[in-house]
Amino acid sequence: MKTFEYARAQSPADAVSRCGPGAMYLGGGTNLVDLMRLGVARPDHLVDVSRLPLDAIEEAGDRVRVGAAVRNSDLAADPLVRSRYPMLARAVLSGASGQVRNMATVAGNLLQRTRCPYFQDVTRPCNKREPGSGCPAIEGDHTNLAILGTSHACVATHPSDMAVALAALEAEVHVTGPGGDRIIPIPGLHRLPGDAPERDTVLEPGDLITAVELPAPPPGASLYRKVRERASFAFALVSIAAVLDIRDGVVAGCRIALGGVAHAPWRAERAEQVLVGGPATGEAFLTAAEAELEQARPLPRNAFKLPLARNVIVRTLEELAS
Ligand SMILES: Cc1cc2nc3c(=O)[nH]c(=O)nc-3n(C[C@H](O)[C@H](O)[C@H](O)COP(=O)(O)OP(=O)(O)OC[C@H]3O[C@@H](n4cnc5c(N)ncnc54)[C@H](O)[C@@H]3O)c2cc1C
Ligand code: SF4
Repeated sequence: MKTFEYARAQSPADAVSRCGPGAMYLGGGTNLVDLMRLGVARPDHLVDVSRLPLDAIEEAGDRVRVGAAVRNSDLAADPLVRSRYPMLARAVLSGASGQVRNMATVAGNLLQRTRCPYFQDVTRPCNKREPGSGCPAIEGDHTNLAILGTSHACVATHPSDMAVALAALEAEVHVTGPGGDRIIPIPGLHRLPGDAPERDTVLEPGDLITAVELPAPPPGASLYRKVRERASFAFALVSIAAVLDIRDGVVAGCRIALGGVAHAPWRAERAEQVLVGGPATGEAFLTAAEAELEQARPLPRNAFKLPLARNVIVRTLEELAS
């Protein structure tokens, strides 16, 4: 591992002032330190933000504010989160292991990097790691990679379960940085790859996430479901966070976000548009799923994600409707 300097930030402003060129923030380290060991991340300075006073979960009117340094385990166990946003608690608990969740922070989870095998292997080219070097996944192993919103430059997926639930809940990310303070809605934080897959998010250098704010829960029943190769300790092949509000047999409101299928949590807006105002039937759920997945561009080895995603959407909506 390359040598680096380490400093513990005393306040958000102190963190931002320390995070100059060559520096990176350190949350729980469960992703960044792995990438440093692999030689993928090579920071000169680590600015530890895991002990900043950003570790509270607070009620703010009908909203809930979650500090960026809250550990994943604490988020999933919080009574306010469990009662108001059970879908979020379930998404967080479906990720990683108890030990990793005890270390991992909210901000770090959102900003964890793709698990594309070529990205993690410094002996191989990869446009995300080394812009312009190529994307061997397109011709090679793309079994677990994206089918929606891909580009000629990258077909990686975003690995976070939490981010998928936050996209369906329309959470907001609070950021402070050299350019001042701002609020970024999710979806909107993570980018699609386009010509610049090296940029995972819209954050600028030195931007520090300070909190995630959850709006009042949308009306209706909600569910997070994750399909993976084994029961635990695996990233999603396809996951879904869905909220369905049915009144007199008609869909009054619907939110669907998908994970494991795109470079960002994928908000299924086309499916939502098809559903809202129509009947809450299995046939309508299938039509909506197919409308969404029409825009998918699977590769030979991940074409299985198309029927998988369709079935996951339909089955989850059926379960919510019942
Ligand atoms: C074996 C294993 C299995 C896993 N399985 C899953 C899974 O199934 N689902 C899932 O969702 N996750 C999974 N994870 C990922 C795990 O959840 C992430 O490693 C973790 O959430 C990252 O959080 P962290 O605080 O440790 O981040 P770090 O590793 O400390 O940092 C990650 C990134 O966030 C940046 N960062 C950290 N804090 C801030 C901040 N406040 N502002 C701006 N930037 C910041 C860092 O600079 C770095 O770029 C798994 C991890 C492991 C090791
Ligand atoms: S899919 Fe993206 S992350 Fe994977 S090799 Fe291609 S450019 Fe790199």
